[in-house]
Amino acid sequence: MIELTNITKSFKKNEVLKGIDLQVKKGEVLVIVGPSGSGKTTLLRCINYLERPDEGTISVEGFSIEGKNASRKDILALRRKTAMVFQHYNLFKNKTVLENVMEGLIVAQKMKAAEARALSVDLLQKVGLSEKINDYPAQLSGGQQQRVGIARALALNPSVILFDEPTSALDPEMVGEVLAIMKKIAREGMTMVVVTHEIDFAREVADRVVFMADGVIVEQGTPDEVLAHPKHERTKQFLKRLV
Ligand code: ATP
Repeated sequence: MIELTNITKSFKKNEVLKGIDLQVKKGEVLVIVGPSGSGKTTLLRCINYLERPDEGTISVEGFSIEGKNASRKDILALRRKTAMVFQHYNLFKNKTVLENVMEGLIVAQKMKAAEARALSVDLLQKVGLSEKINDYPAQLSGGQQQRVGIARALALNPSVILFDEPTSALDPEMVGEVLAIMKKIAREGMTMVVVTHEIDFAREVADRVVFMADGVIVEQGTPDEVLAHPKHERTKQFLKRLV
């Protein structure tokens, strides 16, 4: 469903992605782990062209886009198939929780307000925020704000949701509530690509784990293969440091 072919990306002389090939199947939960600075977030952001890859092809549900000179029209078409959940939530501070979720439906999908409202209310119920729909982001905990971020992503009815370290800005006691919602969505069959440092989540929820280091995929496989029985020294070192 998603196919990345030979993706490269440099920031000036810093070669961050060195030719990444990766496929994600429909309904699959793919978790990307690896040391800080290995290029995980950059790779995720290349999937929807929040970062433009220098080279390579990105294909989502048969729609392909290539290299750094892709047109704005193609980029928008690609983005319509993806939704992103950010580390720092990226909510509109001057809009209520409900308005934050409705926004994409009204602006990007041209849905009528009443329909967008009904759908958003349902999704906010799903992430456990029915009581908070008229609050502003500043009135919510980090965990609650991130759950709004997830409801907003779901509202777009994307082919895939890209999660960029969704729990790493949270206080430890709030991590669980966000991971629980992610597990629920995964069980419902959503295609998910998740960059995270939460190895337990990877172990429990991932269909496939990708270990990245220094801009390349070192190894990938089931959580058991990569996290319990890693083949490469680099993966072993990384996992040892986490214990
Ligand atoms: P972490 O786990 O710490 O978030 P990561 O594996 O997600 O790390 P990236 O955030 O993708 O790594 O960063 C990879 C490299 O690219 C780092 O050296 C980083 O400094 C660099 N980098 C990322 N974004 C930019 C940018 N916009 N401009 C310049 N350099 C960048």
